[in-house]
Amino acid sequence: MTLIELLLFIMLIAAGIFGAFLASQYLGWIGYPLGFIACVGLIVGALTLLSYLGEMWLVGKPAFPSCRTGKCTSDDYRYAMEKEEIVCRCKCGDRYEKVGRRFLIVREDGSRESYKVWRPFDGWHAEEFTKSVN
Ligand SMILES: [Zn+2]
Repeated sequence: MTLIELLLFIMLIAAGIFGAFLASQYLGWIGYPLGFIACVGLIVGALTLLSYLGEMWLVGKPAFPSCRTGKCTSDDYRYAMEKEEIVCRCKCGDRYEKVGRRFLIVREDGSRESYKVWRPFDGWHAEEFTKSVN
């Protein structure tokens, strides 16, 4: 557990205790467990929903499409520093770059070729047109 996670966990427990005391004002002793569970559940639920919406809208799920050869999955990509820029490499050795919702192929000469684009709540799709991005 990192320090950030520990702090978030402590804040979550603190919010739960706050919810417990608040609910106990109206419900008596049963308000303690109910308020704690409701408050923690509400926060965890809201964060889960936000992270899900963020993934489905902005990031893509999985975060990367399969590579050009179709052999690599989202987990097979690794970021690497090459020629003073950060590129994404799959196990085949092909280079890619993720720009917003677009996933581009990085050619040997450094130019970009469109490959896939994430459509929110839909999936990774091949970009219909081919254009150089640079
Ligand atoms: Zn690959």
